[in-house]
Amino acid sequence: MIKIKRIMILLLVFSLLFSSVSFGNNPISVYVRNEKLILDVDPVLVSGRTLVPLRAIFESFGAEVTWNQDTKTAKGELEGTIIELQIDNEIARVNGKPVKLDVPAIIVKGRTMVPVRFISESLGATVNWNQYYKNVLIDSHEHFKVTRIIDGDTFVVDFNGTMETVRLIGIDVPESVHPDPSKNVLDTEEVVRFMETMSKYGLVGLEFDKQDRDQYGRLLAYAWIGSEMVNKNLLELGYAKVMTFPPNSKYLVDFMETQKIAFENKEGYWGSGDFTYDDFEYVGEFVIDKSKNLIGPIGNRETAVLKGSIKSDKYHKLEYTHTGQINDDNLIYFESLDHAILNGYKPCGYCFK
Ligand SMILES: [Zn+2]
Repeated sequence: MIKIKRIMILLLVFSLLFSSVSFGNNPISVYVRNEKLILDVDPVLVSGRTLVPLRAIFESFGAEVTWNQDTKTAKGELEGTIIELQIDNEIARVNGKPVKLDVPAIIVKGRTMVPVRFISESLGATVNWNQYYKNVLIDSHEHFKVTRIIDGDTFVVDFNGTMETVRLIGIDVPESVHPDPSKNVLDTEEVVRFMETMSKYGLVGLEFDKQDRDQYGRLLAYAWIGSEMVNKNLLELGYAKVMTFPPNSKYLVDFMETQKIAFENKEGYWGSGDFTYDDFEYVGEFVIDKSKNLIGPIGNRETAVLKGSIKSDKYHKLEYTHTGQINDDNLIYFESLDHAILNGYKPCGYCFK
């Protein structure tokens, strides 16, 4: 019952996120790097172009904005790029050079509104437009149409004309995980149903890690819908476990924390007993000490910044040799200070006097 409630909430969240479709008058939403932009004046459509409040869009990029009241000209400056727009003037200037706009800047409810695509692209960002949900997606990941859900962590997208299979990375939705063989078939139907919300949404942003594809030729990706990451949602719901294939570990620490919370709150398969905390998949160079739920790359010195012993709870500087007695089997490397702290490690008194 709780499980069903969770799904209903999630579906509700999704339908709220993308509700602009069902109610014709809902405003256009603007996302910058997967964060929804808070706007005091709603974006407006003029001749098929979306105009947004100038200050909000410039500041979301960290650009400095100045306004000249005499000439009614706004100026945005970011890392050597200067953009100037004058109200009702279809010629803008980028670093002094004139650029013809499809629609000029206008004033709406006392706010200067500027064409969002022109500003974004002038600042070197990419822009995607989701017609279905009326979302402007700036500097998000490239977006693709979902054509089919295969299972809980795999789906097909139209990748610029080619049908490509995408495997969500950093996680696994196991088909069978229970130590009791008679319970060894996990019904992942509800996970697949959850994934179907992606097909309804139509477009997903794909973010890649260090490797684009696995040995089966599948794309390896984090999937984004607006400001939600599907991989992380599956962990939050207790539908998936953390499974990392080095070197694709961009979100490892975040995923481990998310999984821990799902475990503690008995979400999804944690609650039904299909998942247990001591049977993580151990993949590649990563191992987990079951008693500590420790996770870390072993023998990956190149990317490590700290080291420790599985048998103690102290982390050490890599260059210190007083740990020379640590047996190879017990040696663990940490990729960051967070990584060490997350695993319950504390600074060694000798290395960090
Ligand atoms: Zn030390």
